Amino acid sequence: MRIGIGGISHETNAFSNVATDETLFRKMAYLEGQEILEKHTGVRSFLGGYIAEAQAQGITLVPTLFANANPSGRIPTHTLENLRDRLVDMLWEEHQKQPLDAIALNCHGAGASVGYPDIEGEILRAVRQRFGREIPVSIVLDLHGNITEEMVEYSDVLVGVKCYPHVDMYESSRVTMDLLANIVRTGKRLYKRIIKLPWHFAPTAGVTLSGPAHKIQQLTIRLEQEIPGLKQVTFFHGFPYADIPQCGVSVTAMAETKEAADAAALEVARTAWNDRYTFRVPTLSPAEAFDAAEKAEAFPVVINESSDNPGGGAPGDGTFLLREMLKRNLPGSAFGHICDPEVAQLAAKAGVGSTISCLLGAKTDKLHGEPIALENAYVKAICDGKFVNVSPMGGGGETNLDLSVRLQVGNVDIVVSSRPRQTMCKGPFEMVGINYTQMRYLGLKSSQHFKGWWKDHAGAIITCDPPGIHCGDLSVFDYQYANRNYFPFVDLEWEPEL
Ligand SMILES: [Zn+2]
Repeated sequence: MRIGIGGISHETNAFSNVATDETLFRKMAYLEGQEILEKHTGVRSFLGGYIAEAQAQGITLVPTLFANANPSGRIPTHTLENLRDRLVDMLWEEHQKQPLDAIALNCHGAGASVGYPDIEGEILRAVRQRFGREIPVSIVLDLHGNITEEMVEYSDVLVGVKCYPHVDMYESSRVTMDLLANIVRTGKRLYKRIIKLPWHFAPTAGVTLSGPAHKIQQLTIRLEQEIPGLKQVTFFHGFPYADIPQCGVSVTAMAETKEAADAAALEVARTAWNDRYTFRVPTLSPAEAFDAAEKAEAFPVVINESSDNPGGGAPGDGTFLLREMLKRNLPGSAFGHICDPEVAQLAAKAGVGSTISCLLGAKTDKLHGEPIALENAYVKAICDGKFVNVSPMGGGGETNLDLSVRLQVGNVDIVVSSRPRQTMCKGPFEMVGINYTQMRYLGLKSSQHFKGWWKDHAGAIITCDPPGIHCGDLSVFDYQYANRNYFPFVDLEWEPEL
């Protein structure tokens, strides 16, 4: 069996002023052909899962194009069209050389281009236009996907992760590949169902380690065991910052029978909707978070700045949390990391052992605080910003923060990087020689994914959510396209129906 793999993955935050052009894809991940297998074999990523399942089943994978940019603003129309055409052309060229039996895609689900608000629907449509309806096509997606009727219509297998932090990307892809291969072997298509709910909720409310999203996650797992013929049911949280008409929560199901798919989708949609008031977001300011941190009984305390999460399209150079850390100046404080390539270069030029004075952070936009004036910050270390991620989410893959430095100001160690990335593990601290176990207060930028690793390594975790384009209070956003007649903007009555 020969299966072509590839994808174009982006989570778009329409409130970001950074357009996601091809250079940003090339900075993060732009892989062609064998590079895909080289970079992802043995890695706990979506593609790593596809590869592992294919190997286990003796399937020959035909790698084509995989392009992934860090979350940021809308993708220019021509960028999306170029990537889409390259992906479809590469698949088609391979198909001409020797026919493919199926196509396995990995996209995010919340990608938006200026000209194509639903990029995943567009990519699937383009694949169908070239290949026709016969060839089975799978797509594995992030739980933050804004799932559309088109995505369901144009795919044969559509699977989302169940965990947030997304520690199950690898496992979700294995399930997807298995279902796809089964269609190739048996010729039997699955029944699919999507229910879109009139509901937006912020990622800060979506953690599945506990709380309301955990309850729904457990329901999906139970239904997959209990309903005969049900292959998969996913509760997609959606991504409200994409600001497209299709934004919102959805449930998808796939089964051998229409009845099973319908029953599972209905039960999950009903239960989640009935629980909608329980999805709450934390609202601590950085000062309130530090007040709580100082009362902690176990250390290090990790304080995460959710509103400036580069993993959700925020710039990663916001200063609200770092400013509070510097103000408190508590012994054993470290911030890992803030993105400011200018300052990283300045410090690198000055060299280890020197001091620099500069404005740090808040340079991308005016929404994440004011730049911090540093005076005589000591340059403790300089590094290339590369390390291997050790989180269960994406573990084994390389993270590249580019030129990075460690500055010391009073009692605070500040890691300054050159790329906006959310902190997933200890890597950003350790790469510049900070032993996190010796620290008491750690600041970082992420909403939930950092918990995949830090839940087992932090004495306590406290979330703060100052202003920013990834903040949990959705009422502050000036939506152009997303439906404002959805909960929680309006308190509406709604019943899921088929
Ligand atoms: Zn996600």
